[in-house]
Amino acid sequence: MIDYLIVGSGLAGISFAETAMHNQKSILIVDNQSQSSSLIAGGLYNPVILKRFSEVWQAQLQLVILDNFYLKLESKLQIKVDFKIPILRKFFSVEEQNNWFAAADNKLLAPFLSLEVKKTKYLGINSPFDYGEVLQTGYVDTKLLLVAYKKYLLENNLLLQDTFDYQLIKFHDDCVQYKLIKAKHIIFAEGFGLHENPYFNYLPLDGTKGELFIIKAPQLNLDVIINTSVFILPLGNDLFKVGATYNWQDKTSSPTEEGKLELLARLQEILDCEFEIVDHFAGVRPTVRDRKPLIGSHPKFPRLHILNGLGTRGVMLGPSMAIALFESIEYQKPLDKAIDIKRYEKKM
Ligand SMILES: Cc1cc2nc3c(=O)[nH]c(=O)nc-3n(C[C@H](O)[C@H](O)[C@H](O)COP(=O)(O)OP(=O)(O)OC[C@H]3O[C@@H](n4cnc5c(N)ncnc54)[C@H](O)[C@@H]3O)c2cc1C
Repeated sequence: MIDYLIVGSGLAGISFAETAMHNQKSILIVDNQSQSSSLIAGGLYNPVILKRFSEVWQAQLQLVILDNFYLKLESKLQIKVDFKIPILRKFFSVEEQNNWFAAADNKLLAPFLSLEVKKTKYLGINSPFDYGEVLQTGYVDTKLLLVAYKKYLLENNLLLQDTFDYQLIKFHDDCVQYKLIKAKHIIFAEGFGLHENPYFNYLPLDGTKGELFIIKAPQLNLDVIINTSVFILPLGNDLFKVGATYNWQDKTSSPTEEGKLELLARLQEILDCEFEIVDHFAGVRPTVRDRKPLIGSHPKFPRLHILNGLGTRGVMLGPSMAIALFESIEYQKPLDKAIDIKRYEKKM
């Protein structure tokens, strides 16, 4: 008998697996590589929603948990995945500069928005109105993390590379059984794959497709992340990650010509140097209508739980949501109403 059978090894599944193992619980993960969101994500973490100048929900708490979580993983896997580098907002007008300083005066945003105009000139970017700097930012190399974590799981016989068959779950008094595996609990962390899950697919997971590029731009000289209508993230060796698009109709994980043209147009607004596209990826973000995660236990089957709806912020939300779910299962600690799936129970 194991403690937790986890379906999905994206940022959500990994976050829960680590939380459980850290608390001396046994786990097994099932994954079929059907979703690519965590693998291809930009990986940025940023406590401010720059489009609306609002603080990310519980940003400070999430950042503390994030630091601790990725630091422990780096040490366990012997790799570097968390890169603390500034995110700069490129201003396109004096009005945008003024809006920034008005926002930086706000008590909630003050810890995260620098009051100094950043005047550094980066080769390859024309910036007559300079930049604003967001503080306490960075990115996680999610691909490196997922690949290394998979290796760790395989070496320790903790991964079943298979499609989870929901029809095979059997319920017993003291456990749930899946094929020959008996577990105290099942955690569903399938990202957009949730739609195949008959136990939880009543939840309103919309899904927002995103596409991004890896470009090569030898003249571009950046040691920060630039964020405007797209982000540009330096990877080294003249390579940069550029993203992302938002598409609410297409729910496939394949790159499209439409996405390519959109990214190209936005990039050309920012860069005034040559570049070539080296790679082009796509994935579906597990987004929810109210922009809050989907966390909790099934109303009729208390051994089934969900960790989903990480939306556009899996890097920041994954670790703190995994702790919230773990503590609600093990210690009956109530979940915050904003994230608890109970908010959708009447709509079942
Ligand atoms: C273009 C793009 C850019 C992004 N940029 C950022 C960013 O900069 N910062 C940020 O924080 N977030 C970003 N995100 C969002 C982030 O990727 C998501 O929040 C996060 O990856 C969600 O993780 P997840 O584990 O819930 O889902 P997923 O990563 O989709 O993982 C779900 C896993 O479950 C598996 N699975 C599903 N169904 C089954 C089944 N039946 N049986 C077995 N396995 C199954 C899948 O194979 C997959 O491995 C971006 C997303 C996209 C698409």
